[in-house]
Amino acid sequence: MSTIAVNLDDLRQQIIIAEQRYGRHPGSTQLVAVSKTQPVSAIHEAVVSGQRVFGENYIQEAIPKIKALKQFDLEWHFIGSIQSNKTHEIAENFQWVDSIDRLKIAERLNEQRPKNLPPLQVCIQINIDDEASKSGISPDLVPELAKAISKLPQLKLRGLMTIPKQKDNFEQQRSTFYQLAEILRDLNESGLNLDTLSMGMSNDFEAAIAERATHLRIGTAIFGQRD
Ligand SMILES: *Cc1c(COP(=O)(O)O)cnc(C)c1O
Repeated sequence: MSTIAVNLDDLRQQIIIAEQRYGRHPGSTQLVAVSKTQPVSAIHEAVVSGQRVFGENYIQEAIPKIKALKQFDLEWHFIGSIQSNKTHEIAENFQWVDSIDRLKIAERLNEQRPKNLPPLQVCIQINIDDEASKSGISPDLVPELAKAISKLPQLKLRGLMTIPKQKDNFEQQRSTFYQLAEILRDLNESGLNLDTLSMGMSNDFEAAIAERATHLRIGTAIFGQRD
C-alpha cells in the first residue's frame, strides 16, 4: 500500500475510535482531505483508497485538479480566503464553500452559481480566537450574517467553520470547539436549521469529534508535511 493509503486507513480507524469514545454516531464525522499543494497523482491515490471529499484553498491551483479528476464522483470544498474576482470560478466548480465571512461574497456566489446546479452548500467561518491574522467573523456578528445568507436561493447555509489557534492541550482544544458548537445550537434555537460543524485538523481532530464536528479538514496526516 502507498503511504497515502496507509495514512487514510490509520485516520479512518482513529476517527471510528474517537466517535465511539465520545458517543458520536458511527460515520457522523466526514473526512475532508485537504489537498492544497498536492499534485493530482497524490489526490488520485487517495481516491483509489476510497476518499471522495477534498478541500482546496487556492482557486488557481484547484481548478486544474478538479478538471483532471472529472471522471470520478468527487465532492470539492473551497476552504481558503475568497477574493471577489474569484467567486465565479468557485461558484461553478465547487459543491461546498466552508469559508464565507462576508455577505458581499455570499451574494456574489449566489448570483454566479449556475442555475442548472444544486445550491452551493456553505458555512460561515468564525474567528473563534479573535486572531488578527485569521479570516472569519467575530461570533457576535454571526446571527445577522447567517440570517442574510439563509435568504439567498442559490446558496444552502449548512453551518459553521473555524480554524482555531494552535493549542497543544486537549482540553483547551475541546473548549474552543465547544464554543463553535454552542453558536450553532443558538442559531438553530433562533429558527435556522443548520447541521454542519467544519472543525478539526491534523493536530486537533479528536477534540473536534468530541465536540460534535461533522467535517474534519485534514491534510498533513494524509499527505504528509507540505513544503
Ligand atoms: C491547510 C488547512 C487544513 C489542513 O491542515 P492540516 O494541519 O494539514 O491537517 C485545514 N483547514 C484549512 C482551512 C487549511 O487551510
